[in-house]
Amino acid sequence: MSLPALVVHGGAGDIPSQEHPEYIVGCRAAFEAGWTLLEQGASALDAVEAAVRSMEDNPIFDAGVGSVLNSVGEIELDAIIMDGATLGLGAVAAVRGIANPVTLARRIMENTSHSVLVGSGARRYAEQIGLRLCSQAELTVPREVTRYREHQQAAEAQKDGRAQAIFDTVGAVAVDRAGNVAAATSTGGIAFKLPGRVGDSPLVGSGAYADNWSGAASATGYGELIMRVVLSKAATDFLAAGLTAQAAAERAIQVLHERVGGEGGIIVVDRNGGVGFAHNTPHMAVARRTADGQIEVRIRIP
Ligand code: ASP
Repeated sequence: MSLPALVVHGGAGDIPSQEHPEYIVGCRAAFEAGWTLLEQGASALDAVEAAVRSMEDNPIFDAGVGSVLNSVGEIELDAIIMDGATLGLGAVAAVRGIANPVTLARRIMENTSHSVLVGSGARRYAEQIGLRLCSQAELTVPREVTRYREHQQAAEAQKDGRAQAIFDTVGAVAVDRAGNVAAATSTGGIAFKLPGRVGDSPLVGSGAYADNWSGAASATGYGELIMRVVLSKAATDFLAAGLTAQAAAERAIQVLHERVGGEGGIIVVDRNGGVGFAHNTPHMAVARRTADGQIEVRIRIP
């Protein structure tokens, strides 16, 4: 274990094998964006924001461009960032037409007296501070239009579309040289969700949590169940109780599975730079640095 440390994820689920190479490239690029900053002495907050922005800009992931469409064919985004030094947080929910919701979340945390902005108010604030706005069309990719049509057909046939879910939300956790930890998570949510639906991702303690006293976590998976067990806070509580980062990640997923039958994955970093990840989905895309300094990017199977 050493400082700094960084882990990123590109979601968990049944990731189609033909998409694995793009997930790997995307996670590597995100890791490099965050790691370069950490090596230069930047803060954990800067690193997690940069890593998540990189994945928001990459259309393979369900965050920023490439996000899933809701039941009326629109994109509504959720994101959170949390500073483990102060326990400060910024989050946005159900916001439309923003390219980088994680950056909007950070600006809310740092420049306002609030923590969470939603919907049109969040977008208005983004416009006010000059963040990049974009149209729905700019965020929409053909893959998601096809998936939307499949969900529509399933809905017409009154079949449950949930079984096809891929949870390709993105997230990052880091600890910097000064020992400050941070976490960030960003998502378009789950496909064919109702307009206005908010998942676990922007909810503090569910989609992410960071506390210098323990560590940081970022979660992905079926949000309605993740929020019931406040998954990321559960993982950092396990760190505080003395578990390693790997054991804390595994225990958190065990709680998700056994207590509410949830599916998902989590990445964890402890305040000393120990890292862990666990999932109970068929795959999870994770990037981290191995003990010998190599970047390891894998579509993990449990
Ligand atoms: N957790 C996200 C949500 O329920 C989905 C995901 O992880 O991809 O909104």
